[in-house]
Amino acid sequence: MTYDVVIIGGGLAGLTCALSTLQKGKRCAVIAGESSMLSFSSGSLDLLNALPDGTPASEPLKAIDTLKQQSETHPYTKIGVKSFIEKAAQAEMMLNELGCKMQGSSLKNHYRTTPVGLAKPAWLSFDGMLATETPDKLPFNSVQIFYPMGFLDFYPRFIAEEWIKKGVQVETVPFFMSKITRIQRIARIINKNNNAEAAAVPACIEQFDKLRELVNRPVYMLATMPPSALGLNLEKILRRKIIELGGDIFTEDKAVKAEWEGNKIKTVYSQKMGNIPFRGEKIVLATGGFAGRGLKATRTGIVEPLFNLDIEQDDNRENRVNTQVLQKQPYMYFGIKTDNSFRAVKNGNVTDNLYVAGAGLEGFNPAEEGCGAGVSVLTGLYVGEMF
Ligand SMILES: Cc1cc2nc3c(=O)[nH]c(=O)nc-3n(C[C@H](O)[C@H](O)[C@H](O)COP(=O)(O)OP(=O)(O)OC[C@H]3O[C@@H](n4cnc5c(N)ncnc54)[C@H](O)[C@@H]3O)c2cc1C
Repeated sequence: MTYDVVIIGGGLAGLTCALSTLQKGKRCAVIAGESSMLSFSSGSLDLLNALPDGTPASEPLKAIDTLKQQSETHPYTKIGVKSFIEKAAQAEMMLNELGCKMQGSSLKNHYRTTPVGLAKPAWLSFDGMLATETPDKLPFNSVQIFYPMGFLDFYPRFIAEEWIKKGVQVETVPFFMSKITRIQRIARIINKNNNAEAAAVPACIEQFDKLRELVNRPVYMLATMPPSALGLNLEKILRRKIIELGGDIFTEDKAVKAEWEGNKIKTVYSQKMGNIPFRGEKIVLATGGFAGRGLKATRTGIVEPLFNLDIEQDDNRENRVNTQVLQKQPYMYFGIKTDNSFRAVKNGNVTDNLYVAGAGLEGFNPAEEGCGAGVSVLTGLYVGEMF
């Protein structure tokens, strides 16, 4: 099977990369792997919440110049200030055009509510999710949180506790919901129990837009624990567009090996396609970080398990982990070494046609810097557009 671009990994980075190559008229295949981190997504995407030195970055576009001075290997430094600004705007437009209505912008972060009720900065949040300008102020003085009885992935009491600290009156209201409960019935329950200025529901209720129409006061979605209905919906939308543009997605398939000719990958083989090879002028590795299994920790160090690419890491094992588990973890910065065009490095040599996008890259810490989705989307778009 011959393509212009073969992408390995079907998470946010692989899928956005596929879209940008297809939009340039290239033939593209995605060997998508198993479920990606989108199934764990909060329903909000982060671009940049803090600089590598810990300084908060409430206005990501303004902070990017300073980030460049603080970290040479950060993916955003490699993208460059101009492309960072362009790609962030392009991502916002792309999601909008795909019908993924989002609130927020790269000009200024907003605050989202985590599943335990804390306020965290974010770049984009699905339309309907509770998003506020500041962490301490909610857009209501009283609210009722409605949730399906027995739904274990949602903790309304934790959220209520945090909101009460902010001076808001909160009531939690369980209701019975089965597979056949219609949205009209949920709306009726909310309307009949009208004891607060606003209502909130977990982000697992289908047809939320319809619910909003039927409820006679403001109603907001709140993030649940995984699996994330919103993340999975985004994945579905991105995949649908890729197919519509003529791309091939090999779902639940896994790249297992490649044939090299010097520094160039000639063919890639996958588990399901057996000895039928994928041929591509360019290959993109978007297999994620530790959680996506694009990076693996072994006794001797961190490895990239598919091609054994060079990894930026600390050779001293003791320096890899901070024993204070809630503190900054050095291993979070480890990742696949690339040149400034995101071409992977193997045995000290820059490869000819293997590019890396997404969570497996070196030089950033998504937990500390709040830049997980941003790095995946922006490097996906950036790499895809180079071809
Ligand atoms: C638990 C968790 C929750 C997160 N939530 C958020 C959030 O709410 N907001 C946010 O901004 N960021 C979040 N992040 C950060 C997250 O890493 C990024 O947002 C982003 O989704 C990562 O996308 P990716 O495509 O780079 O990697 P992944 O999503 O990890 O995708 C990699 C894909 O490659 C596949 N793969 C691996 N090996 C192979 C192979 N050999 N062949 C084929 N396929 C392969 C994997 O199965 C996976 O599907 C979260 C991270 C984690 C770990």
